[in-house]
Amino acid sequence: MTPQRRVIVAEIMRTQGHISPTALARKVQGEMPGVNASTIYRTLSLLEEAGVLAHAHLEGGAEYHRAEDAGHVHLSCSRCGTEDDLSLDEAAALQHLIEQHHGFQPDLTHFAISGLCAECQRDLAAG
Ligand SMILES: [Zn+2]
Ligand SMILES: [Zn+2]
Ligand SMILES: [Zn+2]
Repeated sequence: MTPQRRVIVAEIMRTQGHISPTALARKVQGEMPGVNASTIYRTLSLLEEAGVLAHAHLEGGAEYHRAEDAGHVHLSCSRCGTEDDLSLDEAAALQHLIEQHHGFQPDLTHFAISGLCAECQRDLAAG
């Protein structure tokens, strides 16, 4: 493993929750200037192939989280961008409902459910 790659991996492992490739690039380049963004993207896909990371599509684009933490449904506010999580247990009723429909097996973890957070609803209601 090159020193560059080691810095990238260390930064990912320090991250709680999600990190976007651009946010990761910013952090890594802050720590080790001169690291190529393409090296960072390549490292992300290698880690994903190795099963360490998984990506999910959120409101702002694809983000990565540790594969072991990936078992949740993402709720993404289309107005303010706030992210919230729903556990797969909480989403079990929806999962079963979809499975009953032509036996379709959904992967609820891959794409975020877009909508409005409680705060934005309050804002909109207040005008
Ligand atoms: Zn995807
Ligand atoms: Zn996630
Ligand atoms: Zn919102």
